[in-house]
Amino acid sequence: MRVAAIIEECELEGDHRPVEGVMATCRRCDHATEAFGTSPASVRRCLVMLREECPMGEQNYYFAETGEDEDV
Ligand SMILES: [Zn+2]
Repeated sequence: MRVAAIIEECELEGDHRPVEGVMATCRRCDHATEAFGTSPASVRRCLVMLREECPMGEQNYYFAETGEDEDV
């Protein structure tokens, strides 16, 4: 099934200082993944990780919910 994930920009811990990243939160189970960078590729990485890590063990198709009308 298709599951929405909330996409938010966040700060992640880098090697020496905080770096920009994105966080995706599963709408169904609240599981969250993080990736470095804020590009569409980073968002996709988050969504792939959600699919792999979902604690519910489901093989869902995750899509980004940004509140904006944009294709990621
Ligand atoms: Zn989930």
